Amino acid sequence: MLKPRVLFDAATLAARVQALGAQITHDYRDVGDLVVVPILKGSFLFASDLIRHIDHPLSVEFLGLRSYGAGTESSGVVQITYDLTTPIMGKDVLIVEDIVDTGLSMQYLFENLATRRPRSVKLCALMQKPARTRVKVDIDYLGFTIDDHFVVGYGLDFDEKYRNLPYIGVIEGG
Ligand code: 5GP
Repeated sequence: MLKPRVLFDAATLAARVQALGAQITHDYRDVGDLVVVPILKGSFLFASDLIRHIDHPLSVEFLGLRSYGAGTESSGVVQITYDLTTPIMGKDVLIVEDIVDTGLSMQYLFENLATRRPRSVKLCALMQKPARTRVKVDIDYLGFTIDDHFVVGYGLDFDEKYRNLPYIGVIEGG
């Protein structure tokens, strides 16, 4: 298995995640309980680190999304593979996503969640690739803007591998 080139090492990730948590803590200071929704599978490590830096009462509800496509290309056809287990009507929801690429997955999710009448929905994404945007998605909290690379590690996979890398890396040629 190829060893990916380091793009963001563990210390860089930890510092950024801590800052995002502090910003979220500040912004929600006058709001009631928060529902944090990590998008599976890719955001599971990011979300687990992030919530430890959010000093606010919260619950966690997972949601699984699958974006169909050939290889590393998203087709925009999105399926919910695992749904929330409690209603979010009237709740303040914070989606935690690994990476916004074309934006199609988040567009689909925002439209889907809106039908469930939450009080608010915000998005925290670890990374965004602006070069690949197909639909504009408002990212309230963004970790890093990256070039058009295929990244792995810190929860993100290639063919289900590499999720356990403690850093974000680029597979050369990707
Ligand atoms: P979208 O194109 O719909 O914005 O992104 C869909 C999903 O594709 C992301 O949530 C992520 O799971 C996956 N994805 C997009 N770019 C990358 C990447 O560079 N690396 C990995 N591992 N997954 C990606």
